[in-house]
Amino acid sequence: MMRPNFYAGGGLDRAGALRTDKDWLAARLADPRTRLVPMWRGHNLFHRSDGAAAAPAARLPTLAEAGPLMNGEALLVLLGVAEEAAHFALDLSHLEDAAPAALGWSGEFADLRRHGPLLAHHEGALLAYARAILHWHARHRFCGVCGAPTESIEAGHVRACTNAACGTHHFPRTDPAVIMLVSIGEHCLLGRQRSWPQGMHSTLAGFVEPGESFEDAVAREVLEEAGARVRAVRYHSSQPWPFPASIMVGFHAEAESLALAVNREELEDARWFSRGELLESPEDERFRLPRRDSIARRLIESWLGRDEAPLPRP
Ligand SMILES: [Zn+2]
Repeated sequence: MMRPNFYAGGGLDRAGALRTDKDWLAARLADPRTRLVPMWRGHNLFHRSDGAAAAPAARLPTLAEAGPLMNGEALLVLLGVAEEAAHFALDLSHLEDAAPAALGWSGEFADLRRHGPLLAHHEGALLAYARAILHWHARHRFCGVCGAPTESIEAGHVRACTNAACGTHHFPRTDPAVIMLVSIGEHCLLGRQRSWPQGMHSTLAGFVEPGESFEDAVAREVLEEAGARVRAVRYHSSQPWPFPASIMVGFHAEAESLALAVNREELEDARWFSRGELLESPEDERFRLPRRDSIARRLIESWLGRDEAPLPRP
């Protein structure tokens, strides 16, 4: 088996069958082993256990540490069970000021993208999961069928319409996007968007549209963005990408020719790069590869034949 991508394969038992077990849930909310994954307005909680020089880690308070925050105002979502400890995402977004010191906690709330690549693999996956599902809750407070408020049920894995005449159940959703490294012989196609860090080039990507297969979406996006036709679309791996709500479905594809017609409205630039250029990337303002926690980087490293060794199991 290939090693999982960043934010995937965290080893958590999602315990789906227990989401409706009220006795089990009540017991976990009185269990000192239970851990919380707090979030405030899209930010996860981090700390550095050995001072500022240490790598960041997820800060997972106990129920006792959360104390009066567990008052029913904060949304709780059962994420799953790891090493016999239930893990719940705790949404503190209703607080005006969630400075960890004011809550009696060490650490800081920060965007997962800031620390992601430095986290232990299982922690990255846990925080990404919490971020994804709390984002879904925040964007589905009202029923899309009748407009009435919805409420969280089944330990946070369903939102039910509160209008008895409607009663629609809404389920957590993830938006699929395809991401693909297109190559031909010793060259691969990378592009860049104006908003990216200077020098960064990456694989093409785009959202899957209704009525498309992933393979259709790969071919359409490459044609729309770079004017290239592809064949031999081969699945590589996928990655949860909760920035804010995607799963990236990764492919390698072969171009039919070197001809390009770059769409300058979508991309600042796109062109063919040789294997040698990528292997000697200066990783600075002139040229740099995408972030180490991204599947884009993984697809490139795999094509270069230097995909890293498997990560240790969490
Ligand atoms: Zn409704």
